[in-house]
Amino acid sequence: MLAIFNLTAKAFKPAANIQAKHFYVFRQHEERTVGKVIVVQKYGGSSVANTDKILSVAKRVKKAAENAKVVVVVSAMGDTTDDLLTMAKALCKYPNGREMDKLLATGEQASSALLTMALHELGQPAISLTGGQAGIITENKPGNARIQSVDPQHIKEELNGGNVVVIAGFQGITDNVTWADITTLGRGGSDTTAVALAAALSADKCEIYTDVDGVFTADPRLVPAARKLSSISYEEMLEMADLGASVMHSRAVELAEIHGVNITVAHSVREVPGTMITREDQNMEVKNSVRGIAHDTDVAKITVTSVPDQPGIAYKIFHALAKNGISVDVIVQNISLEGVVDLSFTVNLSDLARAQAVLAPVIKEIGARNITSSSNLAKVSIVGTAISSRPGYADKMFGALADAGINIASITTSEIRITCLIDKANVQKAVQALHAAFELEKA
Ligand code: ASP
Ligand code: MG
Repeated sequence: MLAIFNLTAKAFKPAANIQAKHFYVFRQHEERTVGKVIVVQKYGGSSVANTDKILSVAKRVKKAAENAKVVVVVSAMGDTTDDLLTMAKALCKYPNGREMDKLLATGEQASSALLTMALHELGQPAISLTGGQAGIITENKPGNARIQSVDPQHIKEELNGGNVVVIAGFQGITDNVTWADITTLGRGGSDTTAVALAAALSADKCEIYTDVDGVFTADPRLVPAARKLSSISYEEMLEMADLGASVMHSRAVELAEIHGVNITVAHSVREVPGTMITREDQNMEVKNSVRGIAHDTDVAKITVTSVPDQPGIAYKIFHALAKNGISVDVIVQNISLEGVVDLSFTVNLSDLARAQAVLAPVIKEIGARNITSSSNLAKVSIVGTAISSRPGYADKMFGALADAGINIASITTSEIRITCLIDKANVQKAVQALHAAFELEKA
């Protein structure tokens, strides 16, 4: 394999075992790609949901190709991935990971081939590539494989030959000597494909086209006054994404941060400026450093009652959860009474049953009384760079919730967010109250 870029390193460095001959081949290509800028565009499932939509994407891509070398990454059409999953589960209770990956990867292969045909019909030279053909090598972890390296050679050759290169998102292949298995990158993984390719190609632009206009100060469905942000930092975006603003795959944002890829998120049809996700927000020093209000209703609270107040107990509980891939948040331990404490934390609602199963033997082992849970809670958060280093934000947040008559069950903070656990029924009221209190409707 030629010129391999290691995507886990801070900067791109060719792998040590590449021979001099291969360097030479690669450098020639570097020279030949000078000229037009390279643009990576990604279109999500809703933007290619039917042939009419694929045709409008093709027109947009053709226009971009007038002034740039264009690489397009596509998701599967509409709900294709969900439909394939449903069929698999109808036939087999626990589908084999390898077969599942092979199945799910077909969705993106279909959309990439169809978009390429539409481009041909418009007179635009184009070729589609699978993830493997595009040089994307992943670890062998079915359903949630991480990208290990990208060899962009093949893409560069096609770009230099005048083609728009349309790549099936969300997939790669394993680095297997006998044969390569198809892998998928986890739900929503086409964003990650786009960012990885933008990094490997040193693309001038990475544009994520979707069905929203960009990243907003709050969910516009809850807050009509929500405003589109012109830019947001990687860290802020990660917090917003983790807290339910599902504009982009978190792994893609992390990858973009590591490699310094600037991302623009914009609407796939409306030609309005989107939101730039970048290293740091140019407006960081303005007086309102709260950038947005995030909320998450996919929350369950677990309380382990009467836990002995001894060293190593918290470790046993959280280690068991971590070992099973269950992430926890908003951890609260109450004051020790007669040598026992109650320990509460939140997990994703979808992980609740599994968390309870994992904890049952641990509870016995440590001699705690029992586990209780509640699923009628939600998180609301204020997000913004340097929140923790400036006084007054927590104060204002709790005041706004109090004025709205909303009770806070528990609180956590990080460098750039403050999160309150509240009743699910109060989410909209809380998000609106916070949006108004921090005057986020004003630019
Ligand atoms: N089609 C895949 C999914 O629905 C990947 C993606 O859309 O990014 O999760
Ligand atoms: Mg999708």
